[in-house]
Amino acid sequence: MKIAVVGTGYVGLVTGTCFAETGNQVTCVDIDERKVEKLNNRIIPIYEPGLDVLFYRNVEEGRLKFTTNLAEGIKGAEVIFLALPTPPGEDGSADLKYILGVANDLGPILEQYAVIVDKSTVPVGTAEKVHAGIAKNAKVDFDVVSNPEFLREGVAVEDFMKPDRVVIGTKSDKAKAVMNRLYAPLVRQGNPVIFMDERSAEMTKYAANAFLATKITFMNEIANLCEKVGANVDDIRKGIGTDSRIGKRFLFAGIGYGGSCFPKDVQALAKTAQEYDYDFRVLKSVMDVNAGQKKRLLPVIKQHFGGDLKGKTIAIWGLAFKPYTDDIREAPALDNIRDLLAEGAKITAYDPEAMENVRNILGNQVTFAHTSYAALDDADALVIMTEWPMFRTPEFEKMNLLLKNKVIFDGRNVYELDQMRELGYTYYSIGREAVT
Ligand code: NAD
Repeated sequence: MKIAVVGTGYVGLVTGTCFAETGNQVTCVDIDERKVEKLNNRIIPIYEPGLDVLFYRNVEEGRLKFTTNLAEGIKGAEVIFLALPTPPGEDGSADLKYILGVANDLGPILEQYAVIVDKSTVPVGTAEKVHAGIAKNAKVDFDVVSNPEFLREGVAVEDFMKPDRVVIGTKSDKAKAVMNRLYAPLVRQGNPVIFMDERSAEMTKYAANAFLATKITFMNEIANLCEKVGANVDDIRKGIGTDSRIGKRFLFAGIGYGGSCFPKDVQALAKTAQEYDYDFRVLKSVMDVNAGQKKRLLPVIKQHFGGDLKGKTIAIWGLAFKPYTDDIREAPALDNIRDLLAEGAKITAYDPEAMENVRNILGNQVTFAHTSYAALDDADALVIMTEWPMFRTPEFEKMNLLLKNKVIFDGRNVYELDQMRELGYTYYSIGREAVT
């Protein structure tokens, strides 16, 4: 099949590359000229494990192309994916200007029947708006389908190639047949393609993300209570996660969720509820608790240093909002670094993938280290913000020589309490007693 993907970011590039991998002819379109130039020069602009192998293979085979020209990109395409940003607008609702802008542009340039697919996370009713935007100027027949994306950054290729399920919102049999054909190679093991109407598909994506954000937040509240009652949240996680009704995943307590999806999607769903005059109290609490959770460590750090952080050097391990990505959108590390800087602390940071992105935002306010150990040199304490596997079993002997004080503030519960006691560290984590 000939496919176009409009918007070549984390979702668009993975979508385009994976559909090229299953033999389709794919053109990815983006308005960012520098990004397209990089892609045409075989430079992948994001870090996503496993993407490179598929990318180079399909570019080499001539199945994966890039352009800034929308009309050229969609020429002859049977399916046109919209993988455009839907950032929060000023009032918290998803800003649809990118999606509806492209919908307007598509009308006059569609030359034959095509299925236009909303891959972006969009509020209920968007497929109808996209349809109306295209229909204003379209001379040919077309369908608009909602096909939300559930991939996780860091394992995006695996998620895309073997999705747990594919959700497709459409009432058109013609569009259903096209989408079934496109996804067939990805669901050969029998995972379902679930058809529903457009509004339900749009709502499914928000329900999934809001549920996951709630699960994390619930566990963070349990952690906060654990600290007060003298219980260990890690034991509780194991104790409840083995119950198949609860499940083991998304139960890790920490300094709050971040990323490009959960914060904005929870906010957008709350806004939708408000628009429809529904008081979605659980979501409001989730947002409130998470905002507080991101700030959990600062008072602990301040208290440890007698209330004054001026002139203290704090080493930060981990900047990305989670491991295996360079994405720093809404990363708790950024909030914490800003707060520590405001308290007069100096920051030396290390992250295996995300330093360039943070440098673009914070510039020389932060010193970036070449290695995780270099970040510790003469630091008064270490703060862990992202649970990259390399931080799990470091050489403590080496760390002891570099750090001025053996103090760790761990926002991701990376170490065992007994281990920290044996090593002689002062260790603060989330939902567990402090080792002092
Ligand atoms: P992104 O910012 O990485 O990529 C969006 C791309 O669209 C950018 O490259 C931008 O230059 C391009 N763009 C903007 N306007 C354009 C236009 N008029 N024409 C062509 N290109 C244009 O965003 P993303 O993370 O890929 O997210 C895209 C959508 O997918 C969002 O709605 C997001 O909520 C959703 N989503 C994201 C993830 C994720 O993990 N990142 C997962 C599931 C769903």
